[in-house]
Amino acid sequence: MPPALRSLRRLALLALTAAALTMRTADGAITLSADFDQGGLDLANSSVAGTTVTLAGRDNFNPGQWKWLYFRADGVAGLTPQFRIGDNFNTGASSLAGHAMVYSYDQQSWEFFDNNTLSTSQDTFAFSNQQPFNGDSVYVAYGLPYPTERVAADVQSRASSPWVSPTTTGDASLVIGASPGGIDDLGRTIGPHDLYGYKLTDSASPATTKKKVVLFGGVHANETLGNYTLEGLVDFLDGDSPEAARLRRLAEFYVYPMVNPDGRFAGYNRSTVESPTVDPNRAWDPPLYDSVDEVRTVATAALTDTGGDVDYVIDFHSTVNGKEGHFGYVLPAYQSDPLWQNFLDLEPSVRTLTALLQDDTGAKFGRDQLNAEFSITLETQFLAGENIDRFLALGANLGLAFEQTLRIAGDLNFDHALDAADWQLFLAGADADLSQLSAVDAYAAGDLNGDGFNDLIDFDLFKSAFLTAHGPAALAALLAGVPEPTSLPLATLASTTLAGVAAARRHR
Ligand SMILES: [Zn+2]
Repeated sequence: MPPALRSLRRLALLALTAAALTMRTADGAITLSADFDQGGLDLANSSVAGTTVTLAGRDNFNPGQWKWLYFRADGVAGLTPQFRIGDNFNTGASSLAGHAMVYSYDQQSWEFFDNNTLSTSQDTFAFSNQQPFNGDSVYVAYGLPYPTERVAADVQSRASSPWVSPTTTGDASLVIGASPGGIDDLGRTIGPHDLYGYKLTDSASPATTKKKVVLFGGVHANETLGNYTLEGLVDFLDGDSPEAARLRRLAEFYVYPMVNPDGRFAGYNRSTVESPTVDPNRAWDPPLYDSVDEVRTVATAALTDTGGDVDYVIDFHSTVNGKEGHFGYVLPAYQSDPLWQNFLDLEPSVRTLTALLQDDTGAKFGRDQLNAEFSITLETQFLAGENIDRFLALGANLGLAFEQTLRIAGDLNFDHALDAADWQLFLAGADADLSQLSAVDAYAAGDLNGDGFNDLIDFDLFKSAFLTAHGPAALAALLAGVPEPTSLPLATLASTTLAGVAAARRHR
């Protein structure tokens, strides 16, 4: 064969090989699956043609409408697939306007797709990337997933925290019961899951003076962002900051992180698996709880664990109804509550929407059954560009807001009052070496500004706080009993209330 012919033949072979490669993808080298924790896809009605992937959402709870999507695509390395799904979204196609789908290679860190287009004329939402995938398997979801295994791992890690303990209804593994499991809409058997509850506080201050806070999460199957926000709050509460250390002495937190693990595991749109037609956030109605076992278990545990008289309840949800940003459903009477106002100061973009507490929601249960003075639903939204760190930070700011709300400057024994007992602690700390103490123990000994000493600066801070709280006469009375701090007759002050001191001075 002449050399020219040989190279022609080689070119033809190369062309054939290239054609074969293209054929392989055109034949459907991309495969789809969703049989994993929180996977959600109607696989039977989805299809792949080349790099065009047509998806069908599952329509449990609202027939003909989807509200969650989470699947794995294999065989995508080097490809830029075009994904599309119908715009028959549960709260209307307009809810998809401005939405961005996410993808991940490891189910841990997530990125937003580059191109996300709602076409109401074609009844589709299409999404794709500019660059090819660099891994062969990619996970794709409607929003940042939060599978049940993340809850289990998080609770397991909390169990060894010095601040976490079982509740009355819980065991050493922080388990308060089990979900019922069931058969899901795809015919799969979903096994029971542990239901968790635990208490987070610092036992160095007595339970009798602490505020009680109840936190619910994971009521709605697809509302994963609420779980991230709750996790961020618990990270803060369980953390090393001086604010968290003070807050743990001011309050005890009862955490029920996942009310609906079956629905979450099965990748459901909203409901539990056992009661697929019941909205679990309309089932907080004792004593029957609409026969939603998970809600009944968690609600009755919260009643038993707390004694049914708490101060705050926050139910962590996410909404998919729009892209206007995160908000709280807040009863008008609660909207000026210092906790909510402090949170808004830290998170100015969070909006306040009015709740009426007429439906049998977790928030209504908080007010009516747990007798909370403040009970709200916190709604976070899937917003393009807002990733996991955003929701963890949102939760941490809620923790800061709690500390700012509950702390009283100079309240050294954390009993929510600034009085003579704190003054005694302050004076006792004036001669003590605080250098080896933790920040919160130093604070309890009069180091109000956190510099490691109880000195004149702290004395001025204490006096200023006392003046603000009780006025000049009471401050003068307090100080009059103490000509010189180092020679204070502690025993006499210990047996004398501040009011008593003030009254005695008035009668002179
Ligand atoms: Zn919800």
